[in-house]
Parts: sequence; C-alpha cells; structure tokens
Amino acid sequence: MDNETFRRYGHEFVDWLADYFENIEDYPVKSRVTPGEILSQIPLSPPKTGEDMSEIFRDFKEVVMPGITHWQHPGWFAYFPANNSPASVLAEMLTAGLGAQCMIWQTSPAASELEERMMEWLRDMIALPSGMSGVIQDTASTATLCALLTAREVKTDFRTNEEGSSGDLRVYASSETHSSIEKGVKIAGYGKENVVYIDTDENFAMIPSLLQEAIESDIKSGKIPTCVVGTLGTTSSMGMDPLEEIGNICRKYNIWLHVDAAYAGTAALVPELRGFMKGAEMADSFVFNPHKWMLTNFDCSAYFVKDPEALVRTFEIHPEYLKTAADQKVKNYRDWGIQLGRRFRALKLWFVIRSYGLEGLQAMVKEHVGLTRQFLELLESDTRFEVLAPVQLTLVCFRYNPGGLDEETLEEVNRSLLEKVNGSGEVFLTHTTLKGRYAIRLSVGQRNTSLRQINKVWELISQHAGD
Ligand SMILES: *Cc1c(COP(=O)(O)O)cnc(C)c1O
Repeated sequence: MDNETFRRYGHEFVDWLADYFENIEDYPVKSRVTPGEILSQIPLSPPKTGEDMSEIFRDFKEVVMPGITHWQHPGWFAYFPANNSPASVLAEMLTAGLGAQCMIWQTSPAASELEERMMEWLRDMIALPSGMSGVIQDTASTATLCALLTAREVKTDFRTNEEGSSGDLRVYASSETHSSIEKGVKIAGYGKENVVYIDTDENFAMIPSLLQEAIESDIKSGKIPTCVVGTLGTTSSMGMDPLEEIGNICRKYNIWLHVDAAYAGTAALVPELRGFMKGAEMADSFVFNPHKWMLTNFDCSAYFVKDPEALVRTFEIHPEYLKTAADQKVKNYRDWGIQLGRRFRALKLWFVIRSYGLEGLQAMVKEHVGLTRQFLELLESDTRFEVLAPVQLTLVCFRYNPGGLDEETLEEVNRSLLEKVNGSGEVFLTHTTLKGRYAIRLSVGQRNTSLRQINKVWELISQHAGD
C-alpha cells in the first residue's frame, strides 16, 4: 500500500469510527452470531496476491462486525467494562504508527521516561504511598503473576530462580478471588494445591482470623507462607478484603501482600470513595487496570511495587547484545516483567489523563456510582426483587424472587429473565453465583451510560420478570 492510499483510508477509518461511536446504539450489544458462523466466511487459505483495501474493509464491515460484541455500547452492564475513549484511540493510532519496541531505554527513551512519569501520576492520583514505583503490564493477570514470582524469590532468597521450586510455598486468597490467582500460582510453580482459599463474610470479604489460622496451621506442618492476595472489588460481587487487618497479619509472619484492585482501583481517584483503600499502603505490590474503567483502551494495567529492586532481581537478564552505556542511569522496563518486547502504552495514558484531567475522570467515576444508586432505588422499590450482595461502587447483584419458589426454580427463572433482557439487544448483563445462589449482575461503568440506559434496563428487567 502506498502512502497516499494509507492517508486516504486513514481518514476514512477515523470517519467510520466517529460514526460508530455516534450510532453505536443501532447495534445489538451482544453479538448474535452462532458458533462457527464467522469462521465459515473466512477462506481456508490466505490470498496468493495482495488484495485491495476496499475489499478488505468491506469484509471487515460485512464479516467481522456482526461478530462483534459492543463493549463501548452504553447499554453495557456485563462483566466489568473495558472502556476506550477518543483520546485513547487517537494515541493508540500514533503508537501503532510509530511501531516502537520499548524494551529498554535506548529503544525509545520517551517511552521509558513517559511511562515512569505516568506511573507516578497514577500512583498519586489513587493515593498510593509516594515510595511506590510503577510499571505498565498488559493485564492484571500478568501483574499478579509478577507479584507471585517476586514473592517466591524474596521468600527463598532468590534461590528458586536458580534451583526450581520446592513445592512447600503457600499462597492465600479469599474464596472470591479472581481466577488469575490460580493461573499465576500454576505458572509460577507453587502448584495449585498450595493455594489456600479463605472463607468470606456476609460482605464477601476475606475473614482475617481464618487467614491467621490457616497460616499458623501451615507453619506447624512445615509449609512456608509466602504470599497473600487481597482483593479490592471481587469480580462476582465487588467484595473488599480488609487490607489493614490482612496487612498486619502479613507483617507479623513476613508474608508478601499483593493487592488486586483490577476494576475498583479507578474509584480511588475520588477521595470520598477511597475508604476501601485503607491499608493499601501496606501492600508490597498493587495492581489496577486503567483498561477497565479509566477510559484507556485495552491493554493497560498499572502495577506498583514497594521494592523495585526485588522485582528487577527476579526478572533481569543481561545478554551482551542488550547492554548499553545508559543502563545505570535509566529504567529498562524489560526487567520489570515477563516480556522483552513492550508496547508504548504510556502514550495513551498521557493522552487520556490530559484530555479528561483528574476532575474529568473523577466526575465519570462519581456519575457511574450515582447511576448505580439510582438503579438500586428502582430495584428496591419493587418487592419482587432481592439484592444478594451489599452494593459497593458500581455493581448490583440481584435476583427476581417473588416468594414461594425453591432455589432450583429461582435459578431457572432468573436465567430465563437474563436471556430475555439480553435478547432485546439493547443491554447486556451477565450472572454469577453468590454463596450458591444464582445472581444477575448489573455492572455500571461504560463511558456513555446515562440515566436513559438505567431506566431502559430497569424497564426490561421489570417487564420480563415473571413472564
Ligand atoms: C478483571 C479482573 C482481573 C483480570 O484482569 P486482566 O487484566 O484481564 O488480567 C483480575 N482481578 C480482578 C478483581 C478483575 O476484576
């Protein structure tokens, strides 16, 4: 493709995207294709000769678009959001155009230095201790894996990297913790059997006394307590683990405290919503995802550590061909995580934070928390519905329960209600189970969600309930 054609399609694609943002409500939120439907439209083998961009773009619209679930639709109430924003998309376009590999300082000094400053901005914006250092990871899953690996090395005096793992290191997390903990524990060589799941209370928060008991019992049987993962904002129900008490236990037994605030971390932008962060200053490592709620398109996960030397010592490599004269003076982020090659992700953060300003981002968070309250009021005004978890920040877990139905029937009825509501194409919600009970999850947080969509989703729910 010559530069002139690139220029022409570049303009056309930006126009197409601007129209997409404007008319996104014309699409059903959740894709309606059946399994294999897209696959069957893609040729079995690649073209021998180059095709014209007009044909490729046509197929994007005709073949790909029907198979897209629209995460940027304001009727998005599923999982947690994965927001983008115009500023973020524009930055991502520049990042793609520059095509820089940002593994060490020399391979793009601006990428390294902008990342350093953006992580300081973010750290201060969510009021983490000023001593913490940050690095951008692709996902919270990767950040948690980095925490588990560093905790392992610190506990074994960096011997596991040399000798392999011994199989007696233990990790603790609540029974509501994210599946990425189990994945990380498997990859980091702890072994799945060495994760101890601690029960939660009626607020779906880890019970610290049970954590302490589990640790004591492990010590007695010769195991080595190594890492506790505390969650702020569990995926099922937005449970908040009591970090202060957990942190004190970690200090007492010299255990690494990793905090997973993947979604909820963004709420800490707002001082009056920051209560759940109490004790976060005790964390050895902390992760939250600007790519969820903070308007920065996937992927961008902010990982903070108290002791960057321990992180770097866990990951550093020194092949001759990557040594440079600047190594002592700069940050080489390849040693701060798993990948060598790294995307220039700091640019979109810089664009987003500057474009919205701290106040703009705070206003968005407050707006979403307010809309959640408004939905809750609607739900609570109808006695046929039951709220199944304390409502924190932007998540409501509930079910239709008109009385007189057993658990099995309730699950069936609510599953069918969810299908009908989603079938409208105007909204998309997902479900979970809480203490064995089927719950519909309504998660507010899409950038453009407004009272109109809150009223719409309530109308659909109340209308289809009991159908
Ligand atoms: C979304 C989420 C994760 C996983 O995030 P990725 O960036 O997709 O790996 C982990 N923990 C919690 C609490 C989450 O909400």
